[in-house]
Amino acid sequence: MAEWNDPGIELEKKTDELEELKERLILQQTASFTVEYNLKTRKYYIDPSYKNYIKEDWEKDFIRSKEMGRAHRRAVLRQDHEMLDAFFDFSTLKAGDKRIGKARFRIDKHQFEWFRMALFCAGGADGEPERVVITFSNVQREIEAMEKVEFLLSQDPLTHLPNRSIFIKKTQRMLKENPKKLYAFVQMDVDKFHMVNQFFGAKEGDNILRYLGVKIQECMEAMGECTYCRVSSDTFCLCMPDDQEGIDEAIEYIQSSLRSYPIRFDTTMSFGIYMMTERDHEKNESIETMMDRARAAQRTVKGNYMKRVAVYNEEFMRQEEMEQMIVSEMKQALREEQFKVYLQPKCDMETGRIIGSEALVRWHHPKHGMISPGKFVPIFERNGFISEVDYYVMENTCRTIRRWLDEGFPVEPVSVNVSRMDMYNPRLMENIKDCVSKYNVPHELIEFELTESAFVFDNAQLTNLAERLQENHFSVLMDDFGSGYSSLNSLREISVDILKIDLKFLPQKREDTRANVILSCIIDMANKLGLEVIVEGVENISQVKFLLSIGCKNAQGFYFHRPMSIDEFEKCMKAEPVPISMRERYRAFRKQR
Ligand code: C2E
Ligand code: MG
Ligand code: MG
Repeated sequence: MAEWNDPGIELEKKTDELEELKERLILQQTASFTVEYNLKTRKYYIDPSYKNYIKEDWEKDFIRSKEMGRAHRRAVLRQDHEMLDAFFDFSTLKAGDKRIGKARFRIDKHQFEWFRMALFCAGGADGEPERVVITFSNVQREIEAMEKVEFLLSQDPLTHLPNRSIFIKKTQRMLKENPKKLYAFVQMDVDKFHMVNQFFGAKEGDNILRYLGVKIQECMEAMGECTYCRVSSDTFCLCMPDDQEGIDEAIEYIQSSLRSYPIRFDTTMSFGIYMMTERDHEKNESIETMMDRARAAQRTVKGNYMKRVAVYNEEFMRQEEMEQMIVSEMKQALREEQFKVYLQPKCDMETGRIIGSEALVRWHHPKHGMISPGKFVPIFERNGFISEVDYYVMENTCRTIRRWLDEGFPVEPVSVNVSRMDMYNPRLMENIKDCVSKYNVPHELIEFELTESAFVFDNAQLTNLAERLQENHFSVLMDDFGSGYSSLNSLREISVDILKIDLKFLPQKREDTRANVILSCIIDMANKLGLEVIVEGVENISQVKFLLSIGCKNAQGFYFHRPMSIDEFEKCMKAEPVPISMRERYRAFRKQR
């Protein structure tokens, strides 16, 4: 205690000693030693403890060598020379500069280990650089441990094949080292693999994947310059030279190996190929994109027993370009009102009278002409832009209804589509109410088409929205009824006013009695539940006759009217309705002529 109370020089001395001791301890603990170099006198000092780590005679080396860097080079692995030269270039050093680096030093005749170097440049009284202090720390164990972790992380734990991220890294390296060479990406998976798990258990499923992993590895190693991985579950990816024969051979080998696996299950695989182009090299195209292209090709043959292999071709490329165009131009197109609302009449089949219409969006593109919603709606649903388009369609529809009312035009209800994405928008109901009241549209003149969801977890959202719309006295239509997995279930849970059955979701053969039985059962059930029904996709007279015979009155379909611009729709509304009898007589008359 007394010591610490002593002021002045004594305490300072003690502190210096302590600092030195502390420094020594740290150096020992971190397996480090220091080297000092005086830039002015060109004299050096090496901490003698370096001998604990290096068996070579560094002191001798440094004494002989005038340039510190050159001497070190003898003690360093060739691959690290370049790095070392830069590290030991003191010509640009300023007082206070710091540097760090890592190199493999010779610790014994034939053994190298990793050392981390930290350099600090101290200035003299004149502020000019005077001394360089470098700490060398042996980090061999640390790096070995890190490499081990990296190795474990880079492997798929089930098959021990490289995983997706290491595949991407290795493939990037392979492409960079061979900038003139073209490669093919082959993506594959096992058809109905979930059924293997279901029928034979997850353990057997795992065994098959492991077996497949071994076969893929065997095949790829025989091929030489390739990379491969398990992407996820039963999906694997290869990258190999784009030689058609080699690719066919690999596919055949993998497929036939799997077929010979002893299991009573038809284990077929589907394959998608993307052949790299020179442009991909030039553009430095990402590995992920090329994998996606192989995947896109593969998806087209999944579950197709006649065709097992698909190659990504120009058609895909065009689609991709179109998709990119759609995404990059969508916002501007909405601002510039390139999206147009079309109306497709809904008819009373017997009388031909128009009883309402559906608003369907079209994109009038200045360069590509008319783009149908089938092309852009799925993309907008994925990126969320559909909500803005739906609002735009609803607002335009409200504005048109307002104009009709103001002009004394006969107005029948118009339905608008509500995308599944919209259902997650908590402000949706407020937006609808605000828009409808802005144009002062009576609620019975605007209806909402909701698509039943294929996923049960969405149904809560759907039920909630349907209820809120009905509370606000809007009619709710269930669109595309029969397309999902849970049609009948959803009918129990979701309260709707009108069922919209799309004929394209039922078997298409003309005299298909099964389809007819299903249809009449649905209509019967709807009648019992007190639901209105409208059938969509009605294209010919035999469909009309059958629908009428089972008590269905209303339809929307090309047989009556195609979707049309608002101008045309107005003309249609003004024209005399054509009853079914007249329509047929007129057609027969035209045929005779
Ligand atoms: P949907 O809502 O079921 O619309 C009916 C689709 O069936 C329309 O296709 C219509 O042109 C077509 N159709 C009508 N009658 C027949 C027929 O007799 N035969 C055949 N083969 N087709 C017929 P469209 O306009 O191409 O729209 C396709 C889908 O795009 C729509 O199906 C809807 O899901 C979506 N869509 C269209 N406009 C919008 C929109 O404003 N918002 C949202 N969220 N989706 C929209
Ligand atoms: Mg619809
Ligand atoms: Mg529909």
